[in-house]
Amino acid sequence: MVHLSDIDQARERIAAIARVTPLLQSEQLSQRCDNQVFLKSEHLQKTGSFKIRGASNKVKLAIQNGARYVTTASSGNHGQAVAYIANRLGIPSTIVVPEDARICKINAIKAYHGYVEKCGTTSAERLPRAKELAGEKNGVYIPPYDDPDIIAGQGTIGLEILEQLPDADAVIVPIGGGGLISGILMAIKSLKPQIKVIGVEPEIANDTYLSLQRRQITAISGESTVADGLRTLQPGQITFPIMMKYVDDIVLVSEEEIRRAFSFVLERMKQMIEPSSATTLAALMFHKVPLRNQKIVTVISGGNVDVAKLNDFIML
Ligand SMILES: *Cc1c(COP(=O)(O)O)cnc(C)c1O
Repeated sequence: MVHLSDIDQARERIAAIARVTPLLQSEQLSQRCDNQVFLKSEHLQKTGSFKIRGASNKVKLAIQNGARYVTTASSGNHGQAVAYIANRLGIPSTIVVPEDARICKINAIKAYHGYVEKCGTTSAERLPRAKELAGEKNGVYIPPYDDPDIIAGQGTIGLEILEQLPDADAVIVPIGGGGLISGILMAIKSLKPQIKVIGVEPEIANDTYLSLQRRQITAISGESTVADGLRTLQPGQITFPIMMKYVDDIVLVSEEEIRRAFSFVLERMKQMIEPSSATTLAALMFHKVPLRNQKIVTVISGGNVDVAKLNDFIML
């Protein structure tokens, strides 16, 4: 389990690494959503996503416990975060990516001095390889979400929101494997349980929505939503019970709604956010959340966009 004290300690541990990101506001967006909307801007976070918070907490703890090498199996934001923090703390990392990983992602990992190993096309192939590599060199495998230290690191966002907007009414969070929302839930429900925490998933990646409805972990078959950070096929063993216990609501958004929200933020607010993060704004813009005239924080989880694919994301 993850406790508030773990999140407080994570905050101290990562203070010199992760930025305290701003809460951005836009009058046009607020009008459009019939609420006062604040963007918790993790797209301006180091490495371009919140993943650096959990990864820094976990890798620092692993080093304290004797690790001198780390691995992971994600080509996306988590892989970049692990490569960055390992390099910064002076140890090597291997990031296992699919054979068909896009070159921009591989280059980002290499820019942080991570070693890239290609393996298969499914996470069922990559995960054992990353764990095997960690075993060979006496290292530690760093999981993307289903880990108490990762969850505690992501929870530091919840503490910052409570300080930046103490009278917030609700916080909206995108859900992949559930590490981000689990950390935020543990922080907010420990300190101000009256603040609503609402999850968002794409309609075609609704594994957590289904799992909560059925009250048991339910897997879906992979569909490629534009929200590529939310393509996880099922919630985690650790994250699911936390979401089950504390989440106030979970809503779904369509691919078109995600693209329209993405385009609105780019055009009107001049902010480059990921489609995965645009889901939270889509939920408000298309009135999926039954709230009016409230102060609502949307967690803008990242801003790493493959600009060569920008055209696929835009819908005006
Ligand atoms: C990883 C990620 C998510 C989902 O986080 P989980 O902890 O897996 O729920 C959302 N947005 C972005 C940009 C991400 O990188």
